[in-house]
Amino acid sequence: MKIGIVGCGGRMGRMLVNAVLDAEGCALAGGTERPGGDAVGRDIGELLGRGALGVQVVDDARTLFDVADAVIDFTAPAATVQHAAFAAETGTVLIVGTTGLSKEDEAALRAAGDRIPVVYAPNFSVGVNLLMALTERAAAILGDDYDIEIVEMHHRHKVDAPSGTALGLGRAAAAGRQVALDHVWCKARDGHTGARPKGEIGFATLRGGDVVGDHTVMYATEGERVELTHKASSRAVFAKGAVRAALWAKGRPAGLYSMRDVLGL
Ligand code: NAP
Repeated sequence: MKIGIVGCGGRMGRMLVNAVLDAEGCALAGGTERPGGDAVGRDIGELLGRGALGVQVVDDARTLFDVADAVIDFTAPAATVQHAAFAAETGTVLIVGTTGLSKEDEAALRAAGDRIPVVYAPNFSVGVNLLMALTERAAAILGDDYDIEIVEMHHRHKVDAPSGTALGLGRAAAAGRQVALDHVWCKARDGHTGARPKGEIGFATLRGGDVVGDHTVMYATEGERVELTHKASSRAVFAKGAVRAALWAKGRPAGLYSMRDVLGL
Protein backbone atom coordinates (compact mmCIF):
# COMPACT_ATOMS: atom_id res chain seq x y z
CA MET A 1 0.00 0.00 0.00
CA LYS A 2 1.43 3.40 -1.02
CA ILE A 3 1.03 5.87 1.84
CA GLY A 4 1.72 9.62 1.63
CA ILE A 5 2.38 11.91 4.59
CA VAL A 6 1.26 15.55 4.46
CA GLY A 7 3.21 17.83 6.82
CA CYS A 8 6.08 15.32 6.79
CA GLY A 9 8.52 17.77 8.39
CA GLY A 10 6.40 18.17 11.55
CA ARG A 11 6.94 16.35 14.85
CA MET A 12 4.29 13.75 14.01
CA GLY A 13 5.01 13.91 10.27
CA ARG A 14 8.51 12.56 10.86
CA MET A 15 7.20 9.77 13.12
CA LEU A 16 4.66 8.86 10.44
CA VAL A 17 7.27 8.61 7.70
CA ASN A 18 9.33 6.28 9.93
CA ALA A 19 6.24 4.20 10.74
CA VAL A 20 5.40 3.80 7.02
CA LEU A 21 9.00 2.86 6.16
CA ASP A 22 9.05 0.29 8.99
CA ALA A 23 5.59 -1.24 8.35
CA GLU A 24 5.22 -4.47 6.43
CA GLY A 25 3.21 -4.11 3.21
CA CYS A 26 3.63 -0.32 3.06
CA ALA A 27 5.67 1.95 0.80
CA LEU A 28 6.19 5.69 1.11
CA ALA A 29 4.30 7.49 -1.70
CA GLY A 30 5.83 10.87 -0.77
CA GLY A 31 5.52 13.76 1.63
CA THR A 32 4.52 17.42 1.61
CA GLU A 33 5.18 20.59 3.51
CA ARG A 34 3.46 23.94 2.99
CA PRO A 35 4.82 26.13 0.15
CA GLY A 36 7.94 27.95 1.35
CA GLY A 37 8.53 25.42 4.16
CA ASP A 38 12.19 24.72 5.09
CA ALA A 39 11.94 21.02 4.20
CA VAL A 40 10.54 21.50 0.66
CA GLY A 41 12.95 20.04 -1.94
CA ARG A 42 14.92 18.01 0.62
CA ASP A 43 15.18 14.23 0.46
CA ILE A 44 12.71 12.78 3.00
CA GLY A 45 15.14 10.08 4.16
CA GLU A 46 17.89 12.65 4.77
CA LEU A 47 15.41 14.87 6.61
CA LEU A 48 14.89 11.96 9.01
CA GLY A 49 18.57 11.07 9.26
CA ARG A 50 17.92 7.65 7.61
CA GLY A 51 19.95 8.23 4.43
CA ALA A 52 18.66 9.29 1.02
CA LEU A 53 15.44 7.61 -0.20
CA GLY A 54 15.29 9.42 -3.54
CA VAL A 55 11.93 10.95 -2.55
CA GLN A 56 11.78 14.75 -2.20
CA VAL A 57 9.47 16.75 0.05
CA VAL A 58 7.03 18.60 -2.27
CA ASP A 59 4.64 21.49 -1.65
CA ASP A 60 1.88 20.32 -4.01
CA ALA A 61 -0.42 18.10 -1.94
CA ARG A 62 -2.80 17.41 -4.83
CA THR A 63 -0.04 15.52 -6.69
CA LEU A 64 0.59 13.35 -3.65
CA PHE A 65 -3.11 12.43 -3.43
CA ASP A 66 -3.00 11.43 -7.13
CA VAL A 67 -0.27 8.81 -6.53
CA ALA A 68 -1.01 7.56 -3.00
CA ASP A 69 -3.49 4.82 -1.95
CA ALA A 70 -3.81 6.54 1.42
CA VAL A 71 -2.65 9.84 2.92
CA ILE A 72 -2.06 10.44 6.61
CA ASP A 73 -2.65 13.98 7.86
CA PHE A 74 -1.42 15.25 11.24
CA THR A 75 -1.13 18.95 10.34
CA ALA A 76 -3.44 21.85 11.20
CA PRO A 77 -7.23 22.32 10.78
CA ALA A 78 -7.17 24.60 7.69
CA ALA A 79 -4.76 22.26 5.89
CA THR A 80 -6.80 19.18 6.87
CA VAL A 81 -9.99 20.66 5.35
CA GLN A 82 -8.12 21.24 2.08
CA HIS A 83 -6.66 17.72 2.16
CA ALA A 84 -10.14 16.23 2.72
CA ALA A 85 -11.30 17.85 -0.53
CA PHE A 86 -8.26 16.46 -2.41
CA ALA A 87 -8.89 12.97 -0.97
CA ALA A 88 -12.55 13.03 -2.07
CA GLU A 89 -11.59 14.26 -5.58
CA THR A 90 -8.92 11.61 -6.07
CA GLY A 91 -10.62 8.68 -4.25
CA THR A 92 -7.73 8.38 -1.77
CA VAL A 93 -8.16 6.90 1.73
CA LEU A 94 -7.63 9.66 4.31
CA ILE A 95 -6.40 9.20 7.88
CA VAL A 96 -6.74 12.34 10.02
CA GLY A 97 -5.05 12.89 13.37
CA THR A 98 -5.15 16.70 13.37
CA THR A 99 -6.86 18.03 16.51
CA GLY A 100 -8.58 21.33 17.26
CA LEU A 101 -11.04 20.93 14.34
CA SER A 102 -14.17 23.13 14.50
CA LYS A 103 -17.67 21.78 13.81
CA GLU A 104 -17.37 23.18 10.25
CA ASP A 105 -14.00 21.44 9.77
CA GLU A 106 -15.53 18.17 10.97
CA ALA A 107 -18.43 18.68 8.52
CA ALA A 108 -15.81 18.80 5.73
CA LEU A 109 -14.49 15.40 6.91
CA ARG A 110 -18.04 14.02 6.97
CA ALA A 111 -18.57 15.28 3.41
CA ALA A 112 -15.36 13.55 2.29
CA GLY A 113 -16.58 10.43 4.12
CA ASP A 114 -19.56 10.31 1.75
CA ARG A 115 -17.11 9.54 -1.07
CA ILE A 116 -14.07 7.81 0.46
CA PRO A 117 -13.06 5.98 3.66
CA VAL A 118 -11.88 8.55 6.24
CA VAL A 119 -10.54 7.53 9.65
CA TYR A 120 -10.56 10.47 12.06
CA ALA A 121 -9.35 10.05 15.63
CA PRO A 122 -8.17 12.51 18.25
CA ASN A 123 -5.76 9.81 19.40
CA PHE A 124 -4.46 6.87 17.38
CA SER A 125 -2.93 4.92 20.27
CA VAL A 126 -4.44 1.49 20.85
CA GLY A 127 -4.26 1.99 24.63
CA VAL A 128 -6.17 5.28 24.55
CA ASN A 129 -8.88 3.78 22.39
CA LEU A 130 -9.25 0.97 24.91
CA LEU A 131 -9.50 3.70 27.58
CA MET A 132 -12.31 5.35 25.55
CA ALA A 133 -14.29 2.11 25.52
CA LEU A 134 -13.72 1.56 29.27
CA THR A 135 -14.67 5.20 29.99
CA GLU A 136 -18.03 4.81 28.25
CA ARG A 137 -18.74 1.52 30.03
CA ALA A 138 -17.75 2.86 33.47
CA ALA A 139 -19.91 5.98 33.00
CA ALA A 140 -22.91 3.80 32.11
CA ILE A 141 -22.38 1.47 35.09
CA LEU A 142 -21.60 4.12 37.73
CA GLY A 143 -24.35 6.60 36.80
CA ASP A 144 -24.49 10.32 37.52
CA ASP A 145 -24.00 10.03 41.30
CA TYR A 146 -20.32 9.76 40.32
CA ASP A 147 -18.80 13.13 39.29
CA ILE A 148 -16.68 12.78 36.15
CA GLU A 149 -13.48 14.84 35.86
CA ILE A 150 -10.95 14.47 33.05
CA VAL A 151 -7.38 15.60 33.67
CA GLU A 152 -4.80 15.82 30.89
CA MET A 153 -1.17 16.89 30.61
CA HIS A 154 0.83 17.59 27.44
CA HIS A 155 4.15 19.13 26.41
CA ARG A 156 4.64 22.91 26.35
CA HIS A 157 4.26 23.17 22.53
CA LYS A 158 0.64 22.01 22.37
CA VAL A 159 -1.62 24.78 21.05
CA ASP A 160 -5.17 23.52 21.74
CA ALA A 161 -6.90 22.77 25.06
CA PRO A 162 -8.44 20.60 26.35
CA SER A 163 -6.68 18.03 24.19
CA GLY A 164 -8.64 16.30 21.42
CA THR A 165 -8.20 13.07 23.39
CA ALA A 166 -9.62 14.59 26.58
CA LEU A 167 -12.65 15.80 24.61
CA GLY A 168 -12.95 12.33 23.04
CA LEU A 169 -12.94 10.80 26.53
CA GLY A 170 -15.58 13.36 27.56
CA ARG A 171 -17.73 12.33 24.60
CA ALA A 172 -17.29 8.66 25.55
CA ALA A 173 -18.34 9.39 29.15
CA ALA A 174 -21.33 11.43 27.93
CA ALA A 175 -22.32 8.62 25.57
CA GLY A 176 -22.26 6.21 28.53
CA ARG A 177 -24.73 8.51 30.28
CA GLN A 178 -26.73 9.06 27.08
CA VAL A 179 -26.27 12.85 27.10
CA ALA A 180 -24.56 15.25 24.67
CA LEU A 181 -21.15 16.40 25.94
CA ASP A 182 -21.68 20.06 25.01
CA HIS A 183 -24.77 20.16 27.28
CA VAL A 184 -22.82 19.05 30.36
CA TRP A 185 -19.17 20.02 29.91
CA CYS A 186 -17.17 22.49 31.96
CA LYS A 187 -13.89 23.07 30.08
CA ALA A 188 -12.25 25.32 32.72
CA ARG A 189 -13.00 26.74 36.19
CA ASP A 190 -11.90 30.05 37.69
CA GLY A 191 -13.05 32.28 40.56
CA HIS A 192 -16.28 31.79 42.52
CA THR A 193 -17.78 28.93 40.56
CA GLY A 194 -20.44 27.79 43.03
CA ALA A 195 -21.02 24.11 43.82
CA ARG A 196 -20.47 21.52 41.15
CA PRO A 197 -23.68 20.85 39.17
CA LYS A 198 -24.81 17.21 39.15
CA GLY A 199 -24.09 15.53 35.85
CA GLU A 200 -21.34 17.95 34.84
CA ILE A 201 -18.27 16.53 33.05
CA GLY A 202 -15.27 18.66 34.02
CA PHE A 203 -11.89 19.12 32.34
CA ALA A 204 -8.53 20.25 33.74
CA THR A 205 -5.58 21.03 31.48
CA LEU A 206 -1.89 20.92 32.44
CA ARG A 207 0.93 21.96 30.07
CA GLY A 208 4.69 21.58 30.51
CA GLY A 209 7.99 20.05 29.48
CA ASP A 210 8.03 17.17 27.05
CA VAL A 211 5.03 15.17 28.30
CA VAL A 212 3.76 13.11 25.33
CA GLY A 213 0.22 12.74 26.68
CA ASP A 214 -1.28 11.75 30.06
CA HIS A 215 -5.04 11.33 30.52
CA THR A 216 -7.01 10.36 33.62
CA VAL A 217 -10.78 9.95 33.85
CA MET A 218 -12.02 10.16 37.46
CA TYR A 219 -15.39 9.03 38.76
CA ALA A 220 -15.77 10.48 42.27
CA THR A 221 -18.66 9.91 44.65
CA GLU A 222 -19.04 10.09 48.42
CA GLY A 223 -16.93 7.27 49.79
CA GLU A 224 -14.94 6.19 46.74
CA ARG A 225 -13.21 7.25 43.56
CA VAL A 226 -12.40 5.27 40.42
CA GLU A 227 -9.56 6.48 38.17
CA LEU A 228 -8.72 5.22 34.68
CA THR A 229 -5.31 6.42 33.43
CA HIS A 230 -3.30 6.19 30.24
CA LYS A 231 0.23 7.56 29.79
CA ALA A 232 1.94 7.73 26.41
CA SER A 233 5.73 7.75 26.60
CA SER A 234 6.47 7.87 22.85
CA ARG A 235 4.68 9.61 19.99
CA ALA A 236 5.55 6.57 17.86
CA VAL A 237 2.40 4.84 19.18
CA PHE A 238 0.20 7.40 17.39
CA ALA A 239 2.08 6.93 14.13
CA LYS A 240 1.89 3.13 14.34
CA GLY A 241 -1.85 3.34 15.03
CA ALA A 242 -2.39 5.67 12.05
CA VAL A 243 -0.59 3.27 9.69
CA ARG A 244 -2.69 0.40 11.10
CA ALA A 245 -5.80 2.50 10.36
CA ALA A 246 -4.65 3.10 6.75
CA LEU A 247 -4.16 -0.64 6.17
CA TRP A 248 -7.59 -1.35 7.73
CA ALA A 249 -9.37 1.33 5.65
CA LYS A 250 -8.09 0.11 2.28
CA GLY A 251 -10.99 -1.34 0.27
CA ARG A 252 -13.66 -0.35 2.86
CA PRO A 253 -16.84 1.40 1.77
CA ALA A 254 -16.89 5.21 1.97
CA GLY A 255 -17.59 6.47 5.49
CA LEU A 256 -16.25 8.44 8.43
CA TYR A 257 -14.68 5.90 10.77
CA SER A 258 -13.02 6.15 14.18
CA MET A 259 -10.08 4.28 15.68
CA ARG A 260 -12.62 2.33 17.72
CA ASP A 261 -14.00 1.01 14.41
CA VAL A 262 -10.46 0.06 13.33
CA LEU A 263 -9.91 -1.88 16.57
CA GLY A 264 -13.42 -3.35 16.72
CA LEU A 265 -14.02 -1.84 20.18
P1 NAP B 1 3.81 20.22 14.18
O1 NAP B 1 5.17 19.74 14.58
O2 NAP B 1 3.52 21.68 14.20
O3 NAP B 1 3.53 19.63 12.73
C1 NAP B 1 2.52 20.06 11.87
C2 NAP B 1 3.13 20.06 10.49
O4 NAP B 1 2.12 20.30 9.52
C3 NAP B 1 4.18 21.18 10.35
O5 NAP B 1 5.30 20.67 9.67
C4 NAP B 1 3.41 22.20 9.51
O6 NAP B 1 4.26 23.04 8.75
C5 NAP B 1 2.64 21.27 8.62
N1 NAP B 1 1.58 21.96 7.88
C6 NAP B 1 0.73 22.92 8.32
N2 NAP B 1 -0.05 23.34 7.30
C7 NAP B 1 0.35 22.63 6.20
C8 NAP B 1 -0.07 22.59 4.84
N3 NAP B 1 -1.04 23.39 4.40
N4 NAP B 1 0.54 21.73 4.00
C9 NAP B 1 1.52 20.91 4.41
N5 NAP B 1 1.98 20.92 5.70
C10 NAP B 1 1.38 21.75 6.57
O7 NAP B 1 2.68 19.55 15.09
P2 NAP B 1 2.58 18.03 15.62
O8 NAP B 1 2.99 17.99 17.04
O9 NAP B 1 3.22 17.11 14.65
O10 NAP B 1 1.01 17.84 15.61
C11 NAP B 1 0.26 17.96 14.43
C12 NAP B 1 -1.22 17.70 14.73
O11 NAP B 1 -1.39 16.33 15.12
C13 NAP B 1 -1.77 18.53 15.89
O12 NAP B 1 -3.12 18.88 15.60
C14 NAP B 1 -1.71 17.57 17.07
O13 NAP B 1 -2.61 17.89 18.11
C15 NAP B 1 -2.09 16.29 16.37
N6 NAP B 1 -1.73 15.05 17.05
C16 NAP B 1 -2.64 14.05 16.98
C17 NAP B 1 -2.37 12.82 17.52
C18 NAP B 1 -3.37 11.71 17.33
O14 NAP B 1 -3.09 10.57 17.72
N7 NAP B 1 -4.53 11.99 16.72
C19 NAP B 1 -1.16 12.60 18.18
C20 NAP B 1 -0.22 13.63 18.23
C21 NAP B 1 -0.51 14.87 17.65
P3 NAP B 1 4.62 24.52 9.34
O15 NAP B 1 5.58 24.26 10.43
O16 NAP B 1 5.20 25.19 8.13
O17 NAP B 1 3.34 25.14 9.81
